[in-house]
Amino acid sequence: MIDNFTASVCVIATTVHMAAHLLLPGVVAWACFRTRWRLAWLIMLATLAVDIDHLLADPIFDPERCSIGFHPLHSYPAIALYVLALSLKPLRIVAAGLLIHMVIDSSDCLRMLF
Ligand SMILES: [Zn+2]
Repeated sequence: MIDNFTASVCVIATTVHMAAHLLLPGVVAWACFRTRWRLAWLIMLATLAVDIDHLLADPIFDPERCSIGFHPLHSYPAIALYVLALSLKPLRIVAAGLLIHMVIDSSDCLRMLF
């Protein structure tokens, strides 16, 4: 049983996390892909589908679980592939979206440490 304060912190952290997943790709798309930022943002939002690997976990969603290194598409080898894909121009926007996703998920892991 968690107390009200802890529950409130979880709700706020989850809300900030979800907002970051929506807004940060938009900022990066605007900054790095200026001429086609709307399409770049849309493509990066589509990379949210990487969370499909949560379906393999039980429970599917756990606000107190660090995704990085736990889920297959959030594993360190997968992240290394996303970094490599960043160097391939046709995959650059997708790779950027995936890496932004991993950074945001990593921030949750750091929050859990402190
Ligand atoms: Zn994720």
